[in-house]
Amino acid sequence: MYFTLIITLCFNINFLVSQESITKVFIDLNKASAEHKLNIEVFPPQLNTPSIKYFFPKIVPGTYTINNFGRFISDFKAYDSGGNELAVNRIDTNIWEIQNADKLVKITYTAEDTYNSESIPTVFEPTGTCIDSAKIFMLNNFTLTGYFDGYKDFPYTLTITKPIEFYGSTSLNLLSSDNYTDIYSAKNYFELHDNPLMYSIPDTASLMVNNTKVLLSIYSPNKKVTSSYLVKHTQDLFEAQGKYLGGNLPADKYSILVYLSDKPFRSRSAGALEHFSSTTFCYPETSNEEFLQPFRDVVAHEFFHIVTPLGIHSEEIGNFDFINPVMSKHLWLYEGSTEYYSVHAQVKYGLISMGKFFDKIRSKVIVSTLYLNDTLPFTELSKGALDKYKFQYYNVYQKGALINMCLDLYLLELSGGKYGLQNLKKELGEKFGPEKPFNDEELFDIIAAMTYPEIREFFRMYVEGGNKIPYKQFLGYAGIDFYDKKKVMVPVMIGATLELNESGEIKVLEVNEFGKKLNLKKGDLILSVNGFDINAHNFNYAAEYFEKNTKDGDEVTVTVSRGSKGSVSVNKVLKAKTYLVEKEKNSIILPAENPTEKQLMIRKAWLNQ
Ligand SMILES: [Zn+2]
Repeated sequence: MYFTLIITLCFNINFLVSQESITKVFIDLNKASAEHKLNIEVFPPQLNTPSIKYFFPKIVPGTYTINNFGRFISDFKAYDSGGNELAVNRIDTNIWEIQNADKLVKITYTAEDTYNSESIPTVFEPTGTCIDSAKIFMLNNFTLTGYFDGYKDFPYTLTITKPIEFYGSTSLNLLSSDNYTDIYSAKNYFELHDNPLMYSIPDTASLMVNNTKVLLSIYSPNKKVTSSYLVKHTQDLFEAQGKYLGGNLPADKYSILVYLSDKPFRSRSAGALEHFSSTTFCYPETSNEEFLQPFRDVVAHEFFHIVTPLGIHSEEIGNFDFINPVMSKHLWLYEGSTEYYSVHAQVKYGLISMGKFFDKIRSKVIVSTLYLNDTLPFTELSKGALDKYKFQYYNVYQKGALINMCLDLYLLELSGGKYGLQNLKKELGEKFGPEKPFNDEELFDIIAAMTYPEIREFFRMYVEGGNKIPYKQFLGYAGIDFYDKKKVMVPVMIGATLELNESGEIKVLEVNEFGKKLNLKKGDLILSVNGFDINAHNFNYAAEYFEKNTKDGDEVTVTVSRGSKGSVSVNKVLKAKTYLVEKEKNSIILPAENPTEKQLMIRKAWLNQ
């Protein structure tokens, strides 16, 4: 009896202490204004300081852009228990300082949505918030809620009052719910910021991937895209991802929140933002059939973020500084391995052919070696991804993925096909996990200690160092030949020397043999090939596509604009049968003609074929 009493007492004291340290946020969606604004009420933890600062993030993880989310906040007020206003100074865009903080019981402010805001620079929509009272609320909490100085690591509750017909889709922990109100909890600001919510008339579907319940929630204003169609046609991909990762995943719930728009986005781009256990995806509203491929591409990449960074990350990410962020040097792991997984899982489980896999790898080699800085050490790129090396960031999806492919092949070679990157990442996930970040400086040594000393040298050369990766060597382990340049036979597309200028025009300079067959004329502007509009910007892609999809003897249709000085240009449609010509191409990847037994064994372990 006595014993029980003590326990009860302790429990109550703990409960009291934790209650006092909670930041409580209240949002009433019914009161959203026609100007796309919401009033936010925040009840602070018990404060004992003469003044307190309230911060909004300057930046959030995964974006690599300074967004200054405080700029969407206005009408900031602080109150004591008698309803009297306390003095508040706005120190900068993202920071407010409240006086007499020991008397503070509530702050209120207005948060504007970022999708419709005139504020410049425009926020990439998956990183922002949409407040459209009759239709949809896409809420990224870091645009609505900040944190009190010193209380970033303490718990939050979030109470959302909603229209009765709206459903809230999120991975945030739901404490209680009725027709009008949902109450969520988060163990700290990081968790709150990292879990977006989408409120709308629901179109949701779900499926299990290993132990994780994946929720798909769609907002399609004209009901052109449905969750049931997407889940049905993505099941194979999720199954492959589940098999690829194997075993338990580090989150019970994963939410894919899809916002489709029937008008252009202000950022003029479309895409997704990954979170630890959710993804926000903004895209033009098309149809189920048209949206399927971009949706699959996003899922293939984003879902793998459940492993990195959720399950394996450094202190820089785990204790993210929202005001003065320090970048980790391991983007090769967070983005690079995620991107590699997204293509590797598909070939390994038969969703794409080996040829298609090599096409994807080849394009990454070409982009990273010809168009980006291939000798910039990857750890430096990572540290400077926000500023100094912003324009090299795209390489995390190119060379970042290739580093992981080569690491995978090297591990398989050293282990005789028994241990690859999947084994390594699984072990890293067990060693660290969501609650235990690694030290940025130690990771390479830790991995080398877990695997082979040669792997330390690999990191020194190709991740910390600026050495070009010898793809020939690493692909060679699996009996795959790599040629920097190789002459191959391809169907001829245009048959002329061309000038590609910056305004996008493709102009015929000299007509050669096939061009004569087509009846091309010097000065013609090329408009399309086989119905595919081409310009200087998509020319390389169009030529690759043509060479892949055209056979010797196929008829080619080229549309040109032809005109002479003083006369009106007219469009001409020209036709001729193509034939094969020799062409030197970059970065050719082909299975070796006579692979050894060992190479075939490594290839089998690598690609499952
Ligand atoms: Zn990513």
